[in-house]
Amino acid sequence: MNIILLGPPGSGKGTQAQKMVERYHIPQISTGDILRGAVKEQTPLGVEAKRYMDQGQLVPDEVVVGIVRERLRGSDCDGGFILDGFPRTVPQAEALDSTLGEMQRSINHVVSIEVPNEELLKRLTGRRTCRNCGAMYHIIFGPPTKEGICDKCGGELYQRDDDQEETIRARLQVYEEQTAPLIAYYRKKELLRAIDGVGEVEEIFRNIVQAIED
Ligand code: AMP
Repeated sequence: MNIILLGPPGSGKGTQAQKMVERYHIPQISTGDILRGAVKEQTPLGVEAKRYMDQGQLVPDEVVVGIVRERLRGSDCDGGFILDGFPRTVPQAEALDSTLGEMQRSINHVVSIEVPNEELLKRLTGRRTCRNCGAMYHIIFGPPTKEGICDKCGGELYQRDDDQEETIRARLQVYEEQTAPLIAYYRKKELLRAIDGVGEVEEIFRNIVQAIED
């Protein structure tokens, strides 16, 4: 099962990817998480990536393609993988096709999670993330038991720099211009499974499972 989760920021890709990991026992590859890890560690990659991320812009294709190429070689990807947040541009998708081709593999499903823009803005501005374990909360739709503290690990919750309203608008615009064309790209390859991303997490997950397993 080689799966791509496609969708705008705030569409619930990360949440659904985690549920898929539990069900299918294949790893989630989130380029956003990998980049945030590098920023936290202040590696050269992290220092370069931060400049783009703070502005809601995409990190250059060659950088993220290199990360994913290396990650896909991990033996834990032998039984499949879930790409979350990659590819985000047509050149990234083409690079992925050629990398998988070299490995004699291919993508089986592209799940596109669809959510209207005004809903995305509401979700992202209220989003809080655990500094320690990365768990996500929402100040209105899914608050932690104790304000500012992660239910799972007790870590401190914070608002990601790129979850500030101005940056969110930039991220949504970048999605429209650079990532949305992937919908047509994968539809043409007959890999696209469109899913309504508004509603209960469990219901959306059931629809994803059905789309994949049908
Ligand atoms: P995410 O957590 O997936 O929303 O990613 C956060 C930020 O990391 C994005 O706004 C980009 O700056 C960067 N990023 C993550 N994945 C990619 C990608 N595939 N291509 C370029 N930039 C990326």
